[in-house]
Amino acid sequence: MNELLRELDEMPLSLLETEAQGLHATLGGPTLFHLQGRREPALFISVLMHGNETGGWDAIRTVLRSFVQGERLELPRSLSLFVGNTAAAEQNVRHLPDQPDFNRVWPGSETRGTEAHALMRQVMDRMADLEVFASVDVHNNTGLNPHYACVNVLEHQSLHLAALFGRTVVYFVRPRGVASMAMAALGPSVTLECGKVGQRHGVEHATDYLRACLHLSEIPNHPVPSHDIELYHTVAVVRVPPEHEFSFGTGDAPIRFPRDLDAMNFRDLPVGTLIADCNAGLPQPLDVRDERDRQVAERYFVIEEGRLITQVPLMPSMLTCDPTVIRQDCLCYLMERYNDHLADAG
Ligand SMILES: [Zn+2]
Repeated sequence: MNELLRELDEMPLSLLETEAQGLHATLGGPTLFHLQGRREPALFISVLMHGNETGGWDAIRTVLRSFVQGERLELPRSLSLFVGNTAAAEQNVRHLPDQPDFNRVWPGSETRGTEAHALMRQVMDRMADLEVFASVDVHNNTGLNPHYACVNVLEHQSLHLAALFGRTVVYFVRPRGVASMAMAALGPSVTLECGKVGQRHGVEHATDYLRACLHLSEIPNHPVPSHDIELYHTVAVVRVPPEHEFSFGTGDAPIRFPRDLDAMNFRDLPVGTLIADCNAGLPQPLDVRDERDRQVAERYFVIEEGRLITQVPLMPSMLTCDPTVIRQDCLCYLMERYNDHLADAG
């Protein structure tokens, strides 16, 4: 029964000195803190949806430390802070083997039936009762990516909240069941991708951003000017089917990715860009799904003389050289530029 929600109206200040790995021993499981501030409604921040992505926890505890006066927290706005997969954080993994991915089980998910699904429903119901100023879910990733924010609806306030983090903004509607997609029903909502774990710049960027969000009195309701934002739309997710072995650099696996594959993230890749060397006779080795889950690998990739290459102009994100992430999540996403759609935002 580890995954039942704990709710606390106070945070012991000693918790701010606790590393992500130590939270489970102290909290005992996923915990939603409601911390009173001068303005209502509360800003909702979620961290550690993925247990090994510790940047969000390190950022918010730095922010909270800066608001300690005497023995009390003096916040400019109320904060509901959801500390997610503490058990996975203790093991420094994305999720435990017997758990689903905590950022795929929020209401709207395509799966159901686990304790984690019930937990996220509980968090949502609670926040719906309390009302939400805005919602920020903080992540790290493993490849070489710029810092960027994601939105799941094309709506002016969410786009403003995203552009406050940086120029690069990604709009996606798949995968389903992510926190920012569910929380978008309650108010402006973003996911932050703050680069690799352990990079100080990522924590500092998130710290500045979360502090700024707590100070915001309102979020603009007019369109974000096109010159303030580089908006991308995720059109497909790329996976390596489990039956295909792969390696990076040299090696004798049937699929051999370049060692610096992730250097292609957020780059415009021309037709013919090498994605992998493949054994002769290997059929299309990638599983590529569009937003409606249709297999579209043939549209994007082709094998020519043992080389897997792009056959339309592409821009990937989240390419990673971490085999565990590729197996647990995906190889990358494919994106298209989307600034033309800013005018359609609601
Ligand atoms: Zn994550």
